[in-house]
Amino acid sequence: MANWLDNSVKYVAGVGEARAKLLEKELGIITIGDLLRYYPFRYVDRTKIYPIAEINSNMDSSLVQVRARITGVAYAGTGRKQRFSAFASDASGSVELTWFRGIKWVEKSIEVGREYIIFGRPSFYRGEVQFAHPELELVEQFASRKERCALQGIYSSTEKIASSLGTKGFFKIISNAWEAARNNIEEILPQWLLDHYSLIPLRQALHDIHFPQSAEQLKAAERRLKFDELLGVQLLVQTLRSDRLSRRNGFLFPKVGNLFNDFFNNRLPFSLTEAQKRVIKEIRQDTITGYQMNRLLQGDVGSGKTMVALMSMLLAIDNGFQACMMAPTEILARQHFATISRMTEGMNLKVAILTGSSKAAERRYALEGIASGKVDILIGTHALIEDKVQFANLGYVVIDEQHRFGVEQRARLWTKNQQPPHILVMTATPIPRTLAMTLYGDLDVSVIDQLPPGRQPIRTYHYTDAARLKLWGFLREQIAQGRQVYVVYPLIKESETMDYKDLEDGFESIVRDFPLPNYRVTVCHGKMKPQDKEESMRQFKEHEADILVATSVIEVGVDVPNATVMVIESAERFGLSQLHQLRGRVGRGGGQSFCILMSGEKLSREARQRLQAMCQTSDGFRLSELDLKLRGAGDINGTQQSGITFDLKIANPTLDSQLLQTAREAAIRILADDAQLSKAENIHLRKLRAKHSGGQRFDFSMIS
Ligand code: ADP
Ligand code: MG
Repeated sequence: MANWLDNSVKYVAGVGEARAKLLEKELGIITIGDLLRYYPFRYVDRTKIYPIAEINSNMDSSLVQVRARITGVAYAGTGRKQRFSAFASDASGSVELTWFRGIKWVEKSIEVGREYIIFGRPSFYRGEVQFAHPELELVEQFASRKERCALQGIYSSTEKIASSLGTKGFFKIISNAWEAARNNIEEILPQWLLDHYSLIPLRQALHDIHFPQSAEQLKAAERRLKFDELLGVQLLVQTLRSDRLSRRNGFLFPKVGNLFNDFFNNRLPFSLTEAQKRVIKEIRQDTITGYQMNRLLQGDVGSGKTMVALMSMLLAIDNGFQACMMAPTEILARQHFATISRMTEGMNLKVAILTGSSKAAERRYALEGIASGKVDILIGTHALIEDKVQFANLGYVVIDEQHRFGVEQRARLWTKNQQPPHILVMTATPIPRTLAMTLYGDLDVSVIDQLPPGRQPIRTYHYTDAARLKLWGFLREQIAQGRQVYVVYPLIKESETMDYKDLEDGFESIVRDFPLPNYRVTVCHGKMKPQDKEESMRQFKEHEADILVATSVIEVGVDVPNATVMVIESAERFGLSQLHQLRGRVGRGGGQSFCILMSGEKLSREARQRLQAMCQTSDGFRLSELDLKLRGAGDINGTQQSGITFDLKIANPTLDSQLLQTAREAAIRILADDAQLSKAENIHLRKLRAKHSGGQRFDFSMIS
């Protein structure tokens, strides 16, 4: 069924071909519906009019309006420096309005002697209030328009959009889109839902979100639009769950065999924590039910997830299956391979590795071994999902630090099988458990909430550049004590060259400023060849280097217990979960470890909060909760996990948890009555559900 709102945005008055292209490129707006769902990020109260005398320098970045009469105009400059000014006053004072562009048009439309509503950002010049490029509207006109939006939406924009349309222009096309669409907006929720949950109609919500007349109206509109988004997610989550539970196609791992027992009794280098034992039990219980396991294992950095992975893989192999383990980076894959090979040495077990840079012999061994069934465990990177990799009998998949693997990639792994293998996804960037359960309703969640004994909490400090000498002194002390140090630089894609320059400069200054005899520095970053990276990591691991200067390639998983100091340069440029991950690289041996966050003096409020949080707590769960509050849930790490793309524009599952519960309840009710969503009244709900599956081509049964 064609939906009118799916028409191209180019048909909206004031848009046209060129702007339509721009809107798509800059804001992802393609259809009229997209434009109407491009919501304001804040609102200005347009019922509030300030006397000029009350405007003060604290308002210099906010939008305000005054009501004033134009007393005169003036021209200054020539050519490109030309400027047009108008002077306006109310009973309390006067302001200067200036234009540098579009002068011809402005001078024609301004009438001296008439009263206008002047709307813009005030600035101050020698104590005088000025507005550059304000919006002007005759008082009479404004009065007639006021009815339509007492709160004016402010839309986030980009430089290109701003120069093509301006704030006013953008608002105009939104208004035009509304005018065109207003009689073509179909309700998507069945009437009983609206009644039962006191939701306003969609048409009204789409109007009021752009043109609210009051705060109450705005709230009702927000509630309705958030509900739609959360309901879509919940319909999908609940469908996935019942799908999975209705199938009984999981492999059975009924026995605890020789490999597991031998390892447990004779080779375990330490005793397991209670939390590790519990999770292994949970996995074991899952794999004897006949259901296919789909488990998310959350455990803070350093909590010992690798051991859980290994022991559960042994269970699979004891039952005649192969297992594989995917890691997000080459370094991490190699590390897992080394650790697991070492721990299982002498056992009747074949472990192989496959990565993008595997040499011919390594690759052949892995591919042949896995196809013939000779190899029991295959460890690797994305290379594992290549078509060439054919397992003889894959029963169990572990995915480490999952946020880098998309659901589609995982699906490709197990389309290799007739029956889907059991899946364990491990992550150190947890989301709050209750949230996980609600969002990923179809997943089982395990938590390792305990660190191995004897770990001393890492001390975290925030230094500014002024304290750099102190930092060098501290590092020298640590190195003199035989400890090793990481120095990490941010790497942000858009400015890669600049970032590498930071790293190179940093490396040079360490080499130059570091008057310690015989200390050794090595470098590791993403632009190096794999074998150089590996060599550099090897040097650091075997303590042939004291300092590793790196980009965040070492973010996940790297395990060098003798390293006790993590220095993070330009720490304000990292997100909380990344900082926490990086910090987790130290504190792995017995010694006291330190994390030093370096930043400039000037910090945004949010960056300061992040760095403070890091200094105050080392609890990954608390940090992730805070992270969600600071960033919103739009980009929760691991959202891909559930096969759901959270196309959330307005709802925030953390902040709107109440409404999320409501949506969940609604979804369950709807599906209980019409699981296929095939009733006429649910036709739109079906689309709403499909929207959050990210347009995946494979069928739902392959996701879980
Ligand atoms: P993560 O959960 O971050 O992946 P790892 O699996 O890398 O953590 O484990 C971190 C370190 O703790 C490793 O050096 C590992 O050998 C060690 N470790 C794991 N479990 C235990 C335990 N129960 N007792 C002592 N040390 C442990
Ligand atoms: Mg790990």
